[in-house]
Amino acid sequence: MLFPDPPAGDRTALRFPEAELSYRDLARLTGRLAGELAGRRRIAVWATPTIETCVAVVGALAAGVPVVPLNPKIGERELTHIVGDSEPDLVLAAPGTELPAALAALPAAPVTLDAADLPSPPAHPEPDDERPAFVVYTSGTTGPPKGVVLPRRAVAANLDALADAWSWTADDVLVHGLPLFHVHGLILGVVGPLRRGGTLHHVGRFSTAAVAAALDGGGTMMFGVPTMYHRLAADCAADAGLAASVSRARLLVSGSAALPATDHERIAAATGQRVVERYGMTETLMNTSVRADGDRRPGTVGLPLSGVSLRLVDDDGAELSDPDPETVGEIEVRGPNLFLGYLNRPDATAEAVREGWFRTGDMAVREPDGYVRIVGRRATDLIKSGGYKIGAGEIENALLEHPGVAEVAVTGEPDEDLGERIVAWVVPAGEPPIEQELADHVARLLAPHKRPRVVRFLESLPRNEMGKVMKRSLR
Ligand code: ATP
Ligand code: MG
Repeated sequence: MLFPDPPAGDRTALRFPEAELSYRDLARLTGRLAGELAGRRRIAVWATPTIETCVAVVGALAAGVPVVPLNPKIGERELTHIVGDSEPDLVLAAPGTELPAALAALPAAPVTLDAADLPSPPAHPEPDDERPAFVVYTSGTTGPPKGVVLPRRAVAANLDALADAWSWTADDVLVHGLPLFHVHGLILGVVGPLRRGGTLHHVGRFSTAAVAAALDGGGTMMFGVPTMYHRLAADCAADAGLAASVSRARLLVSGSAALPATDHERIAAATGQRVVERYGMTETLMNTSVRADGDRRPGTVGLPLSGVSLRLVDDDGAELSDPDPETVGEIEVRGPNLFLGYLNRPDATAEAVREGWFRTGDMAVREPDGYVRIVGRRATDLIKSGGYKIGAGEIENALLEHPGVAEVAVTGEPDEDLGERIVAWVVPAGEPPIEQELADHVARLLAPHKRPRVVRFLESLPRNEMGKVMKRSLR
C-alpha cells in the first residue's frame, strides 16, 4: 500500500503558501477524485507548485491510474512529444489555469479544494504493487526526455529505504521549494511525507528566506538541489539570523546533481549543518545516501540504500572487484527500486537493463569503506585525454576552491594531440581571475593530465529548472 496508515483528523498533511490541508480533508478530496478517475488509462497533471497538484496526484494514485506530471514551463515542442508519447486521457489542473495549445485536444478538469460538504470517502481497492504509479519524464540532460514507468512497488520500497537512512518519521515536517514534476520534488517530496504520515511544507517559490521561515515554523528536514544549497551557503554566511534558522533543522538533504564540496563546507561553517547527499535518477529512484547517523563526508553520496545492490563495472561490463578510490567504473544497480521500462521504448529499455542490472551511465569510485564518490556521467563528464579517463567533477571541485570562481563546468573538446582536451567554463565571482592565477591554482591541486588546457569565461551556465548544467549546449 502506498499510504498504509494515514493519520486521522486535523493533522496537517500539506501546507503551501496559499492553502493548507488536513489529512481528513485530503482523504475526502482525493477520495472523491479517485471515484471520478477510476478506469482511466493515464492522467496528466499540470504540475504547478500548488496544493492542487498534490491532490490531483494522490487522487490518481488512489484510483490506481498512472500519473504523468507535466512541467508547466516546458516548451511546446517537448510538451507535444510528452503528450503524444504518454497519451493521457485527461489533464488535471488548478482552476483558472490557462493550458497551452499543445494540450488543446486533451480534455481538462479542474481540481477544487472545497472539502466542506464532502463525506468520508469510500475505500478504494488497493491496486496491485506492480501497477504503474507514475510515468515521469527524465530531465533530458543527455538527450530527449524518456518516459519512465514506475510501479507502486518501487515508490513504496524506495521511500521506506529513505526513511530508514534518514530516520524519517511521522513527526517530520519536510520543507522544500522544489518543482513537482520530477522524482525529487514529487515522489520524495510529496508522496514521501504522506507515506510517513508527516507533513509537507512547500514554500512555493524557493528563496532562502522562505526556507528559513519554514524551518523557524517547525520544519525539521529540507530537500534541495545544489543550486539551492549554493544560495543558502552564500546567504547564511552573510546573515547570522538566517544561519540560526537553518541550524535548527534536523536534516538537510541534497540531490539531483553533485553538491560541490565547497558549498558543503560553507554551509557547515555558517550553520553547523552537514548536508546529507543522496544519489538517484528517474529510472531507479534513489540508490545511495549518506545516512543521517553516518559519516557526512563532503563530495560523496554515501552507501547503497537498504535493498539496493550496487556495483561498478569496467568498459566491458565486468564487475570491478574491491573498492578502489582510483579506479573509475560505471554504476549499475539492482533492487526493488527499479522502473518497469521506458514507455514505448523497448529498445532503450533493453539497452539500459542487463540481467536485471540497470546501467546508470554515471561513473564513480568507491572509497575503502564502500562510500560512493560520483565522478560524472559517462556521456558528458568523462573526458578521455592523453590516454587517461578523467572525471569532470574532480576538476570542477578544484576550480571552485578558487575565490574568483563562482560556478564552473568542465567539458572535453576534440584535440588532435590528446584525443580530447579539458575545457573549463567559468562564471567568475566579480572580476574574472587572471588565467595564469587559475593555472597556478589547479597546478597545486591536480595532476598535470587533469589540468584544463582552455578556460572560457561566461556570465552564467546553461541550467535546467533542477539546476543541472546542460553540458550538451556548452559543447
Ligand atoms: P536524461 O536521462 O534525460 O539525460 P537526467 O539523467 O538528468 O536526464 P534525471 O533522471 O532527472 O535525468 O537525473 C538523474 C541523474 O542526475 C543521474 O544519472 C546523475 O547523473 C545525476 N545525479 C543525481 N543525484 C546526483 C548526485 N547526488 N551527485 C551527482 N549526480 C547526481
Ligand atoms: Mg538519465
